[in-house]
Amino acid sequence: MSDLSTWVSYLAEIGVTDLRVAPAKPRTAGLEAIRADIGECTRCKLCHARTHIVFGVGNPKARLMFVGEGPGADEDAKGEPFVGRAGQKLNEMIRSIGLTREDVYIANVVKCRPPDNRTPEPDEVATCSPFLFRQIEAIRPDVIVALGSPAAKTLLGTKVGITQLRGSWGDFRGIPVMPTFHPAYLLRAYTVENRRLVFEDLKAARARIPSTDA
Ligand code: URA
Repeated sequence: MSDLSTWVSYLAEIGVTDLRVAPAKPRTAGLEAIRADIGECTRCKLCHARTHIVFGVGNPKARLMFVGEGPGADEDAKGEPFVGRAGQKLNEMIRSIGLTREDVYIANVVKCRPPDNRTPEPDEVATCSPFLFRQIEAIRPDVIVALGSPAAKTLLGTKVGITQLRGSWGDFRGIPVMPTFHPAYLLRAYTVENRRLVFEDLKAARARIPSTDA
């Protein structure tokens, strides 16, 4: 049988009249269910100082997903990832490969701001990352870009740092992962070479999206 319609015609010919296809769970509903499960979370100590849980933002059908580390002050105040200076840089990075923030989905490893923007601790990552993993499963993007060490380590299950990881493909449950520098690092170390490396990583990620839609 060369295609689905031929197969369905064949089934009709042999008397099959009742074809049931399980409806795919809409991505938006999947994401809403995950957000509902998080609730007013008190599962880890990051809950004490947070203003907002920063769940994620963007296109539920995104073909490209960005994963950061955790909310900063601006994100905590607004409840949206990457809205501060690093967010402006991320928007620029997204535009550099011909996409917009609305095309992609953006989430973090931890959903609550670590005090003084410190790196999330292992117990916090262990508690919160299952929600990120569920977001990824709900969206099923074609490609993930891991922004910085904590995101890359969490998705790839490694202790290797971002300087070594960046530029080489990894895998998260069958989805290709391109680790690259975090936009906040890029802002601190704004060299021609670092900008070139990040652009190379982003172009490689863009090229893994099968069609023109993102
Ligand atoms: N840095 C991150 O890793 N995530 C944000 O949402 C903002 C800054």
